[in-house]
Amino acid sequence: MSHHSLPAACPIDFMGNNCWDGNITHTSKGQEVMSTAQYVSVHGGHSGQFCYHAKDTLEEIIQSYISHGFPWVGITEHVPGITMELLYPDQQKAGFTPASLLERFDRYMQECRRLKQKYADQIDIYAAMEIETYSGYDTFIPNLIERYRPDYIVGSIHFVNDMVFDYSRERYDLLAETVGGHDELYSRYFDMQYEMIELLRPEVVGHFDLIRIFDPYYKERLRKPEIEAKVIRNLELIKKYNLIMDFNIRSLLKGADEPYITAHILQMAKDLDIAVVPGDDSHGLDNIHINMDKAISILKEYGFATNWRKPRRIHYD
Ligand SMILES: [Zn+2]
Ligand SMILES: [Zn+2]
Repeated sequence: MSHHSLPAACPIDFMGNNCWDGNITHTSKGQEVMSTAQYVSVHGGHSGQFCYHAKDTLEEIIQSYISHGFPWVGITEHVPGITMELLYPDQQKAGFTPASLLERFDRYMQECRRLKQKYADQIDIYAAMEIETYSGYDTFIPNLIERYRPDYIVGSIHFVNDMVFDYSRERYDLLAETVGGHDELYSRYFDMQYEMIELLRPEVVGHFDLIRIFDPYYKERLRKPEIEAKVIRNLELIKKYNLIMDFNIRSLLKGADEPYITAHILQMAKDLDIAVVPGDDSHGLDNIHINMDKAISILKEYGFATNWRKPRRIHYD
């Protein structure tokens, strides 16, 4: 049995649970087989329909999650930039404006909800969003949450000093230079992450150590005492609010040899008993389920529970 096909007598219920019985799953013939973890994603489902650097329609993407046996998935499209300078360079070139991005985001939330209904008997979809931390986010994001009522938010940092750092190596190094070096860039990133978590308490913390993206020396740098102290501080805050950490496999598609979270921080998260759940950060059909087995086997190896915790939905009155 491939690990994401479910036994026939054991349909997924609405909550995305199948009939777990400890480590054993019963098949229709009554045989017992060792069950393995299901494919899920707390972060992803970016689509070409609503994200300029992704591909394919949201409906095609959801159909693909269904066909790969995901019992549930968080669709977490990017929130729009709020000034021209805050748009990604490719968005600027393509002629987007803050207004046109907001209008597209509006359509995203509607379409995501429509698909959530349409496929409700096949997959439990979360209509969610991935936030940003540029200037003004502390009022803009709460306003967006109020207006669109997402099921949850993914708290991610792609901006330091209002500059996107994950777009290219050139911009990354330029930004590091601007702030006084790579150590300082990491420090600011983790400080901003702390503030964001404190302010918004996102149900899912996205790619915790994304700041390492273009840094060949990240393994050593993350262990420098002043940086590691911030990492530990942030992990403790995540623990305090009982948030989920995204185990993000997009790094593998881009040539990294491990997901975000890096190994030694993953161990710290385990020691703190933080919930860590796979996130594919997919940006098109061909990203779905790729490397998911690898993510799951790493999480197992570190002793994480693989009856994945589901995100808690934000409660609205
Ligand atoms: Zn993206
Ligand atoms: Zn992201």
